Amino acid sequence: MKAIRVHAFGSPEVLKLEEISDLAPGPGQIVVRIRAAGVNPVETYIRSGIYGARQFPYTPGSDAGGIIESVGLGVAANPGDRVSVTGSLTGSYAQLALCTAMQVFPLPENLSFAQGAAIGVPYGTACRALFTRGGATAGETVLVHGASGGVGTASVQLARHAGLRVIGTASTDRGRQLVRDQGAEHVLDHSDKNYLQQLMDLTNGRGVDLILEMLANVNLGKDLTVLAKRGRVVVIGSRGPVEINSRDTMSRDADIRGMSLAHADERERVMMYMRMGTQFAAGTLKPIVGQEIPLAEAPRAHEAVMKSGSHGKIVLVP
Ligand code: NAP
Repeated sequence: MKAIRVHAFGSPEVLKLEEISDLAPGPGQIVVRIRAAGVNPVETYIRSGIYGARQFPYTPGSDAGGIIESVGLGVAANPGDRVSVTGSLTGSYAQLALCTAMQVFPLPENLSFAQGAAIGVPYGTACRALFTRGGATAGETVLVHGASGGVGTASVQLARHAGLRVIGTASTDRGRQLVRDQGAEHVLDHSDKNYLQQLMDLTNGRGVDLILEMLANVNLGKDLTVLAKRGRVVVIGSRGPVEINSRDTMSRDADIRGMSLAHADERERVMMYMRMGTQFAAGTLKPIVGQEIPLAEAPRAHEAVMKSGSHGKIVLVP
């Protein structure tokens, strides 16, 4: 089979398409034929080496949509089943991936394989940030700070469905239209110097109850000034240090809460994806795929996912 292999940390060009051995499932394992693989920013951080040591060579990627190719002893699923994958033993930037049974979920007929590849990290992150860490409840106002990408579009859909009032941000007209289409009541431009004043005007000076923050190194200090009393910021993304005025937390009893999807244990993950599965099947959650890029062009996908002008999820097609 063909797979992207990384032999050393470095720029996107270290992602090489190579021929490697096919996979066979052991007991409790599933081999999935990948029809689309999700590209997440974390895969660029790992590739560049900032997350530390790694065994080489490796195949990147955790998310995918595809079809079960073969199953090991004790697995209830069947070859031919359509599935969405999140996490795998061998990496999803490939024609085949070896997974545990807990990493594979049914993909409803109404979703494409590319949409199946846009579920794992984005919806798991959005769900955990909103509800597990953010404590979101119906009637609250949430700012999805960076709403046009994979996690942002998922967050807007989940928050709307849970009865929150959603304000989103994006830096392009196309991105802002996408966020509006997902159900945000208002969409602001995070590259406009007046957007936080506009946010305060939209909430009649009260501020928002919850902020899902995609770029805390740029925004955390500002976030604290637009929170309502007892507001919470959930830090989802951060690419460096940031200075804050801690008095801004005191004056509103505010919380800054970190969130990493990696801290969800197997039980929490299975519960999250099974619960969201009914919403995917019902059509109330619809993953947004902005770009489909051939697997061989994985370097281009890694460049694209780090650029602004996001429009949903980028997926690789083997
Ligand atoms: P993505 O698809 O590349 O989207 C990035 C988002 O950030 C876009 O909406 C983009 O908007 C927005 N953005 C860019 N500049 C911004 C600014 N100055 N202020 C606010 N937003 C800004 O990435 P993603 O998959 O949604 O992931 C988002 C972030 O969360 C990444 O940093 C990622 O590493 C992190 N993440 C963390 C976890 C976790 O477990 N903690 C899990 C998944 C992702 P425009 O392009 O419209 O400017």
